[in-house]
Amino acid sequence: MALDPASPTPAIFPDREETADEAASLLAALEGPALLLEPDRRVGLVTAEAARLLTLDDLAPRAGAHFPDLLARSRLAREAREALDLLAGPDGSGSLRMDLAGGGIAVRRVSLPRRRVALLLQPDPPPLPTDPAATPDPLTGLADRRGFRAVLAGRLDSAAMHGFGLLLLDIDRFRIVNETLGPQVGDQLLATVGARLRRALRGSDLPARLGGDEFAILVGETADPGELDGLARRLMDMLGRPYLIGGQPVTIGLSAGIARAPQDGADADILLGRAAMALHTAKAAGKGRCAAFLPEMQTRSEARRQMEADLRRAFALRQFDLHYQPQVDVTTGRLFGFEALLRWCHPSLGPVSPAEFIPLAEEIGLIAPIGAWVLSAACREAAGWSAPLAVGVNVSALQFEQGDLLEAVREALARSGLPPERLEIEITESALLGNPEATLGILRQLRAGGVRIAMDDFGTGYSSLTRLQSFPFDRIKIDRSFVSGTRGIAEGRAIVRAIAGLGASLGMRTIAEGVETHEQLDCVRTDGCTEVQGYLFGRPMPAIEVPGAIARFAAAAA
Ligand code: C2E
Ligand code: CA
Ligand code: CA
Repeated sequence: MALDPASPTPAIFPDREETADEAASLLAALEGPALLLEPDRRVGLVTAEAARLLTLDDLAPRAGAHFPDLLARSRLAREAREALDLLAGPDGSGSLRMDLAGGGIAVRRVSLPRRRVALLLQPDPPPLPTDPAATPDPLTGLADRRGFRAVLAGRLDSAAMHGFGLLLLDIDRFRIVNETLGPQVGDQLLATVGARLRRALRGSDLPARLGGDEFAILVGETADPGELDGLARRLMDMLGRPYLIGGQPVTIGLSAGIARAPQDGADADILLGRAAMALHTAKAAGKGRCAAFLPEMQTRSEARRQMEADLRRAFALRQFDLHYQPQVDVTTGRLFGFEALLRWCHPSLGPVSPAEFIPLAEEIGLIAPIGAWVLSAACREAAGWSAPLAVGVNVSALQFEQGDLLEAVREALARSGLPPERLEIEITESALLGNPEATLGILRQLRAGGVRIAMDDFGTGYSSLTRLQSFPFDRIKIDRSFVSGTRGIAEGRAIVRAIAGLGASLGMRTIAEGVETHEQLDCVRTDGCTEVQGYLFGRPMPAIEVPGAIARFAAAAA
């Protein structure tokens, strides 16, 4: 129950003033309960139904009564009175929904000439009768998962089955509502969403709460894709309008997934799984969306599950390798370190890019153990090099939340005997987004132990100067896209120059990544970078080639 500023406020007879008769016949023609207010907020006209809905009937409202006074004396809840008063006021606009004990009402404001206002009331249809097989969910009174599944299975098994639809609705970022406003507000919100949902459907539909913030609807009368899509969008719009809970406005977004019976599955679990796949696709495409199940989704999700299984297996069998890419001082040409880059050679697919499997490892909770392995392998191999060069290790933002990063670093250093000064942890700005205080605490402890810290991929994403100032990074790594000119040569150079200048003033070294040509080298040198890394100086190489590379650089410098 809050104002929805997005709805348009059409004017009736915009070019002239309507007569009293016109206004009266206008209200009658609206075919619904309505209220006409004069500019001084006195009631011009009110239908009997509108008076009843707004619990003004026993106050016998007459033309000329002051609307705010009437509201104040009505039996409406305080929240409803405030919201209506706001909507009817001189600056009100749009529409609101009120969730009252006896049902919901949508109220739309229409601006009339001479600053008159009409409030059009539309009560929600009465709640649905419930199917006896559908055991209720205590919070919302809708069917629970078990009951819903039973009704679904019954429908699929019945001999005279007509096609029908299955719709899943999921609240986007519900966890945030729960965390910021508390679980009680979360529960109230879910109950209100359930009530709105029940009133929006027809008697042939069965709504359910499957658990958490996931709702489902068995759409009884149609399996038509267009109609199901239309219904999903209508529900997303209706349930997505603001709520007023305990006096606070709460806004939510929803995503929807659609499956159809029997074409998408003749078994309740298969059908639910496919609707969930469609929902997952809608969410992955950026929330607030609706998607219908397609056979490709099944194939993709199987491929993903296979990849997951392969990744777990690869980790168990340690089928990973580290490659090392040289890092060079831009003025002297001297080699000062290597960045360790993870490699996975998939038994049948061949090499898989870390840009692909690291996000998967993060999603399935495998990043902390993989990251610990990378740390220990990199320290062990670097400790064996013939020169005391630095080794850069990439650490995912999630390693600050899952697993014990400090312990993993301590153990890698202790086991390898590598001096901490030779280890450089590379983090991206995303590590400083979630819980910056906790992350900075870990970084400080690492640094106190002698380990160096680099800010990786700087300039992409959420770059901010304050974040650079929040910690004394040893090095800023300038993202390859600025060096290679993929974002425009001039813009790229301007950014490289700005970051190099920033680094110089903060006392941090700056390394340009992805230098492939002499021309790019000249640019980044002119623009003030202190160090470089890229194919021009060497591609990431297997550990076994590192001694040769160290010797070659030493010979070139001599
Ligand atoms: P990154 O940390 O920005 O690593 C640099 C990437 O740029 C590497 O890709 C490297 O091979 C590539 N590269 C270096 N020089 C050049 C060049 O001159 N031209 C071009 N075109 N590319 C160049 P790679 O190895 O595919 O790694 C991709 C990303 O995967 C890395 O980006 C990093 O974010 C992530 N990653 C790699 N290893 C690890 C790891 O052990 N742990 C974590 N958490 N992430 C890793
Ligand atoms: Ca890196
Ligand atoms: Ca990088």
